[in-house]
Amino acid sequence: MDSDGLKRDGAGTDSPANVDRSAIAVSPQSDDTQILAVMYHYISEPDRALSRGVQALSVDGFRAQLDDLCRHMEPIDWPSFYGWTQGRVDLPKRCFLLTFDDGLLSHGRIVLPVLEALGLRGVFFVPTSVLTHEHMLLAHAIHLLLSRLGDKGLCEALLAALHAHDASVDWPSTMDTNAAMELYHYESRDRAKLKYFLNITLPISIRQSMVQSLFEQHVGSIKRWSRTWYLGWEDLVAMQALGHSIGGHGDSHEPITCLTTAQGRADIRQTACVLNDGLGPDIRPFSYPFGRYDEATMSSCREAGFAACFTTEPHRIRCDTDTRRLPRVDTMNVTAVLEKDFACQPH
Ligand SMILES: [Zn+2]
Repeated sequence: MDSDGLKRDGAGTDSPANVDRSAIAVSPQSDDTQILAVMYHYISEPDRALSRGVQALSVDGFRAQLDDLCRHMEPIDWPSFYGWTQGRVDLPKRCFLLTFDDGLLSHGRIVLPVLEALGLRGVFFVPTSVLTHEHMLLAHAIHLLLSRLGDKGLCEALLAALHAHDASVDWPSTMDTNAAMELYHYESRDRAKLKYFLNITLPISIRQSMVQSLFEQHVGSIKRWSRTWYLGWEDLVAMQALGHSIGGHGDSHEPITCLTTAQGRADIRQTACVLNDGLGPDIRPFSYPFGRYDEATMSSCREAGFAACFTTEPHRIRCDTDTRRLPRVDTMNVTAVLEKDFACQPH
């Protein structure tokens, strides 16, 4: 675990509105709290039309996992977590924080009722460009293209499009297979390489226009799909009013480290501005798109006012964890964590 950062740093001077200020301050030296931040993306009922490209946790699986988590640990919300990082709030020794990436409409339609029924609160990380104009983020466009064309079909369509663009991209011989498998560890080798190429390797200027054109050609209207795919302002306002927290997840949802430092800073600043304009000012967390970050990314998030940043590194959070790079465990690995790290016996 990283311990070279801002231990219980002083990010922000205000606290979220519903932090319990009367809570007992904790002594970091004696604080052996361990927090499991769980990361979710797609949660939906099975959909055969999308199953080739969209890997979703079933609603029943989601409920079962929440039951397991609640059986062995205490749930916490973002304001409590933030208060703890500031040394103002005491947390249970074993607790969990639920986080949801990508601002998906299913988070409002499917996840929210489940959380509400159990009295749980989540942190929803939203890529803000989908709130300012109707479009599909590259990652999701690729999922839908994979659903429609399959791996082989998308590869063929991609090679044809690259040829048409006259793009001299040497693929896949230059692919960093290890990096691809690390990021897409849950995918087959071929699909991990394909996704890595489209999301990370291919220059941004090429991939945006190429995937958009493939999407319109093989899936349908980007605007129409966007309306069915992402949360809107009404959803976010309602979720925030219920006590859930809305965090930033980049504006363009590009891996920040693939942008120049100036572009990355502008993207993160725009994320903060859009959320503040639409939801009002608040102390908010950030989740790095694709888990990618570096020193410049962390600084830019701090400058933009984000109070803590989450990665995709699979560890627990402790009192000496750097709040600029908080680890999270993917939903698919939660059972293993419960069994090993917490010595629990999930059902
Ligand atoms: Zn994302």
